[in-house]
Amino acid sequence: MTNITSGCIGALTQIKTLVTGGGNLCRACGASGHFAHGCVQPPSPWLESLLVLREKAEARHTKELQRLADIERKATAELERLETERLSRERAETERAETERAETERA
Ligand SMILES: [Zn+2]
Repeated sequence: MTNITSGCIGALTQIKTLVTGGGNLCRACGASGHFAHGCVQPPSPWLESLLVLREKAEARHTKELQRLADIERKATAELERLETERLSRERAETERAETERAETERA
């Protein structure tokens, strides 16, 4: 379940890689003229926007995962309930059959 990744997060990460790689830009701040090693600059506006979008996508993704986990929990509980119901029906069926057999033998 936790392995499910959001397409948006992947796409935004890919865009960042494509732009920084294609433009020989710093991977840390997205500016030109230096590389990520030892970079202390804040993110460039384009990278800042991308990071904000990615954070939102990650937050959405986390919520979706929580909703999925909730649905899975409810579905599992329902399956257990149905199984318990089935077993108790089977038990009642068996008991009735045994009672009938006992009554037939007595008669
Ligand atoms: Zn930099």
